[in-house]
Amino acid sequence: MTDCHACGLIVWAGPVPANDNQPSCFCVTVAADFELRRRGHRIALAAEINRLGLSRREVVNWVADEIYGYSGAVHWPNGVTFPIWDTLVDDAFTDGSQSWVGDFMKQSVNAPLIRPQKRVIPKLRLLDLAIRISDPRLAARIARGLNDN
Ligand SMILES: [Zn+2]
Repeated sequence: MTDCHACGLIVWAGPVPANDNQPSCFCVTVAADFELRRRGHRIALAAEINRLGLSRREVVNWVADEIYGYSGAVHWPNGVTFPIWDTLVDDAFTDGSQSWVGDFMKQSVNAPLIRPQKRVIPKLRLLDLAIRISDPRLAARIARGLNDN
């Protein structure tokens, strides 16, 4: 539990306690590395990206639109501001053909058991962030690995 650097309210590291009356931060929090490495999270995230019905290149454009178009604050799970600069998305998705995105989208049916390499984490975090911005409730379900419909 810490204070958000953007709004000063409490950032909960896990689910917000149902009976807690303290005002808490509703800024968007990016996923922690350990969450992004969880297989259940990757499968649920891949499924939701597929549900957008976009090509792999369009997915990256959608991620950019969501992140650059968001006017609220974004922070790390520890409350520190998550920096968004104008080439953030391009810097992460450097492969022009976006074949990694195409491969990732297939993980909704067959996600590798092996944990993703460190260089993949920023891509996963931005895909996840775009979902969190566009649909916070859905993002909470993905975080719990409960993509059940
Ligand atoms: Zn906040």
